[in-house]
Amino acid sequence: MPVQSVGYTQSRIQNNPNKNDGGASLAAYYGSGLVSGAIVSPIPIISSKFIKMGSNLSEETIDTFHKGFEQAVKMTGMDKKGVTIHYLPQTNRGKVQILNFDIIDSIKNGNNACHLSKDFTDATGKIFKKNSILMPEKDLSFAGFHELGHAINNKNFFWNCLQKLRVPGYTMAGLIMMYGAFTNKIEKPQNRELTKLEKAHNFVRDNAGKLTFAAVLPTLAEEAMASIRAQKLANKILDKNLAKQVLKGNALAYTTYALGAVSLAVGSYCAVKIKDIMMSKKK
Ligand SMILES: [Zn+2]
Repeated sequence: MPVQSVGYTQSRIQNNPNKNDGGASLAAYYGSGLVSGAIVSPIPIISSKFIKMGSNLSEETIDTFHKGFEQAVKMTGMDKKGVTIHYLPQTNRGKVQILNFDIIDSIKNGNNACHLSKDFTDATGKIFKKNSILMPEKDLSFAGFHELGHAINNKNFFWNCLQKLRVPGYTMAGLIMMYGAFTNKIEKPQNRELTKLEKAHNFVRDNAGKLTFAAVLPTLAEEAMASIRAQKLANKILDKNLAKQVLKGNALAYTTYALGAVSLAVGSYCAVKIKDIMMSKKK
């Protein structure tokens, strides 16, 4: 049966007599993936540096960081607002796993720390309440200040909204990249103007890189704010040398977020460009 729908679908087909563009779509998708992959390739090195930095501290330094962090929670009144600290026992100290999607496991390995913006049940059924800060019992002790920054953000309407945009933002970024690879630019037909929907379609494709970056920008901003809050507190509570380590840890972690955002944006941009070049060669 021929396509009966009007507008967008029909004009796409009309404008693309060569409908067999699956190969070009996949080439655009995987090609842009390669470009993104190249941009994020330093992340494992940076993450390892961050983790090693967090696992090479003396017992005395760890103790000072923990006490300073606990003092900061009280100083900011966050303890009264339901923020609790949980030091998870480290079963695999020193085990570096960059791609570990089990957050509890990665914390127990000393590879991560987090603030929970909602209740969380781990694999064993243990429930961690909203606004818990989960830390490895020894490693990454400087990271408590940054997680407290997220907890403070959570209590602020604006920053809390940005926290809520994290998952939808990354989902949107991935969708824009796919959209660019799996659709084509709509040319203006001779007998009429483009419809609003067709114009919107072209706008998304023409601005895929910028829109992708915009989708993850709330997370970049929220991460930066958590680090700014962390640094202010660390400067007040810790001596200069230890406050500098908080700064260094935050800078390393932030670099991974920034590289990830740039890689997604460049990936979306390339998906559209590769697809358009391949389709123009097919004509
Ligand atoms: Zn963070």
